[in-house]
Amino acid sequence: MDFHLSEEHQMLLDTADKIARDFPRAYYVEHAKAQTFPQEQWDALANAGILGINTPEAYGGSGMGMLALVLLQERLAEHGVAPLFFVVNQGIAVPAISRHGSEAQKEHWLPAIASGEKRCCFAITEPNAGTNTFRIQTQAAEDGDHFVLNGNKLFISGINDAQQVLVVAKTDTVDGRAQLTLFVVDTDSPGLSWERMDTMLMNAEGQFFVYFDNVRVPRENVLGKVGRGVEVLFDALNPERMVVAAGAIGGGRHALARGVEYANERSIFKGPIGAYQALQHPMAEARAQLEAASLLVQKSAWLHDSGQPAKVVGDLANMGKLVGTDAAFKAADAAIQCFGGYGFCESYDMLSHFIAARLGKVAPINREMTLNYIGEFILGLPKSY
Ligand SMILES: Cc1cc2nc3c(=O)[nH]c(=O)nc-3n(C[C@H](O)[C@H](O)[C@H](O)COP(=O)(O)OP(=O)(O)OC[C@H]3O[C@@H](n4cnc5c(N)ncnc54)[C@H](O)[C@@H]3O)c2cc1C
Repeated sequence: MDFHLSEEHQMLLDTADKIARDFPRAYYVEHAKAQTFPQEQWDALANAGILGINTPEAYGGSGMGMLALVLLQERLAEHGVAPLFFVVNQGIAVPAISRHGSEAQKEHWLPAIASGEKRCCFAITEPNAGTNTFRIQTQAAEDGDHFVLNGNKLFISGINDAQQVLVVAKTDTVDGRAQLTLFVVDTDSPGLSWERMDTMLMNAEGQFFVYFDNVRVPRENVLGKVGRGVEVLFDALNPERMVVAAGAIGGGRHALARGVEYANERSIFKGPIGAYQALQHPMAEARAQLEAASLLVQKSAWLHDSGQPAKVVGDLANMGKLVGTDAAFKAADAAIQCFGGYGFCESYDMLSHFIAARLGKVAPINREMTLNYIGEFILGLPKSY
């Protein structure tokens, strides 16, 4: 048992192990290749109470919080079966609605997410804004008791399998900066459509261009205050960073375990190739860095659960995301090296881990922006961009 984990946490990890045995990597890969939603795995997660893990007890969850969620995500990723939906559904939507939703909103959405009946994806990225969210163009115009949304998003993960999408739109522009507002939008709303993008990842959840053409959203679906969406984002994006980091760390462990197994078996001169320090040391280094990153992410989650301010949590969440995804990349890179040419054969399923680890340096927040955050907000250096 890890040094500070409760019995409840340990039971959760045992449950994750069982779900991964019942729905192993081969199941996940099959759905990723077919781009079909892994419903049986999702139902198993729902039945085990895992989908409501960070949902407050009053709204149908177990209220175990972010620490439980990152432990779980890390463990599922270690088995190669972590759902991308955990990043947006449990990682963004649940913390955002739990902390900023009205009573009616919490009652409406949280129990349905916890039971698995509903999934919520997240739409912020736009073609001309990218990392600079304050340049988004998607406009929400007031019209009586509704807002009318117009604009385009892209790279939106899993919208085809979600019942709701948490949309970041601008309701005003002040000094050239968009004033952001968050809306929970039903994906079957008239005027909302999407088209699959051609991303090459081994995930069942694809990425989509999303189009808003006069989509009418009731005022009661505004999350938080109009024009003050940044406050909601602060509380929602820290958990997202943690879940992403945890998934990367688990993924790094998975790739490393595969590399070690292969390096112990493959013999090409005398003895197994795993004896070569050129292969062994990068893997040993990555292993140590994965463990360090894991502790950082767990601490950020614990701070979040303890109700610390978003800045305190954000400092560690950003650092955890940085070192977690860096360590995962090192692990995947070192592991794939062991496989030589076989690392590039589809049947060996190693390249997918390398691509996933590489993605962590770009999305959902790129490496450079986490360094900018640390430079500016932790070290107190001038803003660089
Ligand atoms: C698989 C996948 C899933 C995704 N899922 C979602 C989703 O569900 N919802 C959603 O809204 N978005 C999603 N995204 C979008 C993702 O968050 C963006 O791709 C990311 O935020 C970067 O935006 P961009 O691609 O426009 O890159 P740009 O903003 O054009 O940046 C390009 C590069 O420039 C550098 N850079 C940018 N700004 C700075 C700076 N200030 N200082 C130094 N360097 C900088 C970075 O290296 C960066 O990689 C997803 C993307 C992928 C690939």
